[in-house]
Amino acid sequence: MSGPEHGGEATQERRHVGEPVGGEPVCLMHRVCPECGRLADEDPPTRCPHCEAVIDEG
Ligand SMILES: [Zn+2]
Repeated sequence: MSGPEHGGEATQERRHVGEPVGGEPVCLMHRVCPECGRLADEDPPTRCPHCEAVIDEG
């Protein structure tokens, strides 16, 4: 009486879903264009993708 043992039990760990994942700062005010108010695609110093105004870090 030698049968194959179940050696591979499926252990699925459920991840906590709901927490925001990201390393970006919460406040993106420094990315807002002073001219048109749009949000730049990257951190300053950069240019506004819409009106090409210079967005400085301040
Ligand atoms: Zn702009």
